[in-house]
Amino acid sequence: MIESIIEKAKAESQKGQLASYIPALANQPKDLFAAYLIDENGEVLKFGDIDFKFTLQSISKVMNFIVAAESLGLDNVLDKVDVEPTGDPFNSIVRLEVAEKGKPFNPMINAGAITVASLLPGKSVDARVQSVTDFLAEVTGHAHAVNQEVYQSELETAYRNRAIANYLKANNYLEGTVEEAVETYLQLCSIEVSTEDLAKFGLFLAYDGLDTSQDKRLISQKTAQFTKALMMTCGLYNASGKYAATVGFPMKSGVSGGILGTIQTGQVEHLKGRMGIAVFSAAIDEVGNSVAGMHFLESLSEQYDLSVF
Ligand code: GLU
Repeated sequence: MIESIIEKAKAESQKGQLASYIPALANQPKDLFAAYLIDENGEVLKFGDIDFKFTLQSISKVMNFIVAAESLGLDNVLDKVDVEPTGDPFNSIVRLEVAEKGKPFNPMINAGAITVASLLPGKSVDARVQSVTDFLAEVTGHAHAVNQEVYQSELETAYRNRAIANYLKANNYLEGTVEEAVETYLQLCSIEVSTEDLAKFGLFLAYDGLDTSQDKRLISQKTAQFTKALMMTCGLYNASGKYAATVGFPMKSGVSGGILGTIQTGQVEHLKGRMGIAVFSAAIDEVGNSVAGMHFLESLSEQYDLSVF
């Protein structure tokens, strides 16, 4: 059943395009497709090109928020960033000018994520990035590198992100310099992962921050709940509302074509209860979501009743 869903989803990917605004992402292979599911018993279903590594891009906003909330305290992070969806594109600037005091709306869009990146623990850009790679490594069980080619490519073309960071700095939301905040944010976007890593992360969130492989709580339940609420309401750019209706579980996508999902319901015969899910296919639609990836998740959710609603 899942294989036939994948065949249909892959055919859809022709409608998408590679993220050409970051030159290094325009070189990603367009034909690859990977899906990885892990259930609460550690049982795995894997399909396609699961060995392929891609960069987190906007999915890093999830880990960024968690590490900041855990190290600074959730309330201190929420002083600097709200938890409200915008319905605007991820790199929009408009609300920083019109919103009261220019407070970024949520940590899943660039304005919020750049703010959160500047709050991460550590005295240098490298230390702040490492706080996130260390956390990710704890969940996935192995070290994660920053893809330097993608990072340099982002750095050279980050005109909008620098503009956003300048607005944030002018309104006193950033710690440190504008360039440090942008560099930290872009390095986080350039961390490499596989679908297996993201599926493990999804299972970890499904357990509200309990790492079942170590039987150890890594983050508070409250941080996990906020994270999943943010993913559900703001995780898929300005298509988050539509996919809350059609897929119905928390997800976060990135412009490299990856999607992280976390599931706590559903009547799947062999995949009961909690589940982590990840999908990768590089061609994205005009708002930034993987075309084949979202098609796959919509069909899977419909077939197996995975929506929380
Ligand atoms: N590095 C990207 C940017 O800020 C992240 C985009 C994304 O995945 O949404 O432009």
